[in-house]
Amino acid sequence: MLSLIYKSEWDIALEERPIPQIQSQHQVLVRIRATGICGTDLGIISGKYHAKPSIILGHESAGDVVEVGSGVTTLKPGDRVVIDPTYYCGQCAKCRTGRQNHCMHKGVTETGVSSDGTFTDYYVTEDRFLYKLADHTTYEEATMTEPLSCILTGINQIQLLPNFRTLVLGAGPIGMLYSYALASKGVTGTIVEISAERRDIARSVAPQGWDVQHSLGDAVRLHSPEDGQVDLIVDTTGLLATPSIAHLAHGGYLMLVGLRDGESTFNPKEIVDRSLKIIGSIDSLGTFATAHYLIEQGIVPAKKLITHAFPVTDYSEAFAVLGCDLKGRLLKADSTAVKVVLHSGGA
Ligand SMILES: [Zn+2]
Ligand SMILES: [Zn+2]
Repeated sequence: MLSLIYKSEWDIALEERPIPQIQSQHQVLVRIRATGICGTDLGIISGKYHAKPSIILGHESAGDVVEVGSGVTTLKPGDRVVIDPTYYCGQCAKCRTGRQNHCMHKGVTETGVSSDGTFTDYYVTEDRFLYKLADHTTYEEATMTEPLSCILTGINQIQLLPNFRTLVLGAGPIGMLYSYALASKGVTGTIVEISAERRDIARSVAPQGWDVQHSLGDAVRLHSPEDGQVDLIVDTTGLLATPSIAHLAHGGYLMLVGLRDGESTFNPKEIVDRSLKIIGSIDSLGTFATAHYLIEQGIVPAKKLITHAFPVTDYSEAFAVLGCDLKGRLLKADSTAVKVVLHSGGA
């Protein structure tokens, strides 16, 4: 099967790999139909996020069940499914203390990072990580389930009120999904985006009641001309923690979800004195079924946020629309896309 392989920094290629086989009774062989390109993939390719060389990339996927192990009772060949790629063992110290997203086996089991992923034709997982798709949900739409699930996990860490003055920094897929997930809880806010092209797209796909601004300062002034403070800032860029803290109201939250190396500074006295909360969140924890529901019900309009789709063989073009120039070895902030999906061929 033709697979998109991570070889080393800025070096990815299509290579033939053997079709994986079911090896235990709860495993399921899935024929992959569509996989979303994630910021993590861009981070891996550009050398900002570590992945195991020779791994098949990709983790936001949907497809068809092809074969099931002898112990599988809830799925059968032909079922259309979305894959929860966040493997956890359920038995290690992290899993037994409610931190399955940090399962101690992650170093060898993380789909598309430390274990073979889904930019390919077939993938083996366990029945507990598969969710059936409704007839009206497309494979493409279903690829948004995993990133949405990560976002719901982030939001679960906030004692959210519908009247929180809220900013989401970055209008990429994660920023747009955050705005929709927050909107589903009654929150309205502002999306901040420096790229003019992405601002235009964001304006056309933002949830009702949300606006789009080009700078953090403008967004804060718009929301709270009186005190210049907001209650919740979600930074998906990984670059704006320090200026964000200055704009948080007492008891406010800074949610950090951009995987980017860097240094930020804060004054501990300020954090204490103003009861500020700085939260990091990665991967999903008990939220996949809810993400699946929100997409199935159209509460989060996945279709609207998918701006491009390519066959996996056109991966260079697909990465290019996300600002990732593979030949030039350059990751640009400008992008003409929100979510980009790759289709697998199957056999
Ligand atoms: Zn992802
Ligand atoms: Zn575990």
